[in-house]
Amino acid sequence: MRVGIGYDVHRLGKGRRLILGGVEIPFEMGLLGHSDGDVLTHAVMDALLGAAGLGDIGRHFPDSDPQYENISSLVLLVQVGQLLRGQGWRVGNIDATIMAQKPRLAPYSEAMGRHLAEALDADQAQISVKATTTDGLGFAGRWEGMAAYAVALLEALGR
Ligand code: MG
Repeated sequence: MRVGIGYDVHRLGKGRRLILGGVEIPFEMGLLGHSDGDVLTHAVMDALLGAAGLGDIGRHFPDSDPQYENISSLVLLVQVGQLLRGQGWRVGNIDATIMAQKPRLAPYSEAMGRHLAEALDADQAQISVKATTTDGLGFAGRWEGMAAYAVALLEALGR
């Protein structure tokens, strides 16, 4: 078994859709980024890649590469899942926390977990998505951005 951690931050801006875990969430701002800015999915990918000792998403999907512009991060997560399976790993479980002052994310956490599980060909029970505010403190509290933390456990297939 191997464990990995992922962390990501994206800036909030007007005129962008807010996508978290592949779910579009109604809000007056969205996360900026080369891709869709899906901070949750990025943290999950970094946790998975880290657990497998395969670096980070910047190495696999460089933001200097135009093919990743505005791409759905779930598409990238599918590729990470395939890479892991090819290297003999299966997902044990993933636990993630989004740090955001607004909007209220709890009503969407189940849908986010479902999308992540589908992309990874995993069971929804293996994926936990939570959200917290920062009690108004810091960049998240000032609505300047959102962060996400993820921990992933991988199990070796047939070793
Ligand atoms: Mg990112």
